[in-house]
Amino acid sequence: MKALKWTLLIVIVISGLLAGVFCVTWMQDELALRKSYLVVSNFNHEIITKGDTGKTKLVALTFDDGPDPQYTPKVLEILKKYQIKATFFVVGENCADYPEIIRQEIKAGHEVENHTYTHPDLVKDRAVSTEEEIVRTGQVIESITGRKPCYFRPPKRLFTSDTVKIAESSGYQLVLWTIGVEHRLSKTPEKMANRVIKAAKPGIIILAHDGRLNRTKTIEALPLIIKGYQKKGYRFVTLQELLAYAPPK
Ligand SMILES: [Zn+2]
Repeated sequence: MKALKWTLLIVIVISGLLAGVFCVTWMQDELALRKSYLVVSNFNHEIITKGDTGKTKLVALTFDDGPDPQYTPKVLEILKKYQIKATFFVVGENCADYPEIIRQEIKAGHEVENHTYTHPDLVKDRAVSTEEEIVRTGQVIESITGRKPCYFRPPKRLFTSDTVKIAESSGYQLVLWTIGVEHRLSKTPEKMANRVIKAAKPGIIILAHDGRLNRTKTIEALPLIIKGYQKKGYRFVTLQELLAYAPPK
């Protein structure tokens, strides 16, 4: 009888611990999800984190940090397979190195936008000129594509009120995202995909990466995310299409 009591007690304690760990993990995940909205409240500028598509199930898939000769062609292959359009926030110096990849993105109907020239920390790195980073990248993109980009995304979501002002005066709207594919609590491609699929809402902007670090897991998660959203009735559109969409009243 005594042994049974002890077993029961141990089971209760372990269950309690597991529930606690689950709860903390869930809360961290939820907070990370909401963070992208919080940053907006400090500024009197319009920072875009999602589109307003009403009940229409549109979603924008965006990729930062490319073009990259290893990962971007794989991303393009997947997008082609599922016949969807995406938006690439590219790094200027990578564009200068791999202009052919940018041409392929445009030829496939994707959108190319501005993610600085050298991917610096625009807040801490005082030697960096935000204006030069933005303008130079715009020029290199335009020289390859013939189109001047209109959206700017600061590296690692680091920006100040001045960054927004400089972006706006250079002809850009600052665009962040609603949910990121790469997340420290999502250790496998399946977990990465499930977290993003669970967050599905009309008008959201998904952030993924196609360069700078090892993106093998992102590439594996991508088809799962696309299939998950398509199963829920979503259509992938470019950022411009998402933000220009006027929901029926
Ligand atoms: Zn980046």
